[in-house]
Amino acid sequence: MIKLLKQSIIQRFDALGNHLLSPPRSGFGYFVHHGPRDQPKLALTFDDGPSRPCTEQLLEALDQLEVKATFFCLGVNVGYHPELVLHMYQRGHVIGNHSGWHSRKRGLLPWADLSHIRAGEEAIYAVLGVRPRFYRPPWGWLTPWEGRRLARAGYTIIGWDVYTLDWVIPEVDAVTLARDACRVAQAGSIFCFHDAKPWEPLWEKRETTRAIKLLVPELRAQGYEFVTLAELLHRPAYG
Ligand SMILES: [Zn+2]
Repeated sequence: MIKLLKQSIIQRFDALGNHLLSPPRSGFGYFVHHGPRDQPKLALTFDDGPSRPCTEQLLEALDQLEVKATFFCLGVNVGYHPELVLHMYQRGHVIGNHSGWHSRKRGLLPWADLSHIRAGEEAIYAVLGVRPRFYRPPWGWLTPWEGRRLARAGYTIIGWDVYTLDWVIPEVDAVTLARDACRVAQAGSIFCFHDAKPWEPLWEKRETTRAIKLLVPELRAQGYEFVTLAELLHRPAYG
């Protein structure tokens, strides 16, 4: 009984957080949800990685499609597979910070410090020798005080304007994911997908990669070009 009650409270808390703090509504002026609307450029972003084999499969597909993307890596997952993070970077993908351990609550506290963000940054720095300047908060939750802290630390805070349920288990099929994403994509769009799961070194996730293989040719046929966030926003990826 107490367990059920606790679960219900957490669900309501999460729904309220998603409603108030996640894109597209939230941001308090600190979020970037898309690039310029007058250029046919799109940016694919992937959160929570890396994991095996899902990230490897995605990287292979992106290579075949000749697409450079942006990966918001999680500190703890970077620790599982540093070689994959190095591989992404060497292939020309951009690495962003998705915090150290994916806590959605840390940024809620007005008096919190940036240690959960620094933990992600340090994990990436240890592998690449560069410090990411793009940050996406876990769950996309951004309070104004966390936004101010991040902006002062020199981060560009990235939201999205194209979001699918590709993180749900069991997985949503690729055709649905690609269709849902294509339907709302427009010039300057930032897509939020997931190549992995927080705290999971191994994950058999297939539909996101399949969806990317469907939607890239479809949107290219409509005249769009896929670029990294650095190219879309004309902002530095590292500092
Ligand atoms: Zn995440």
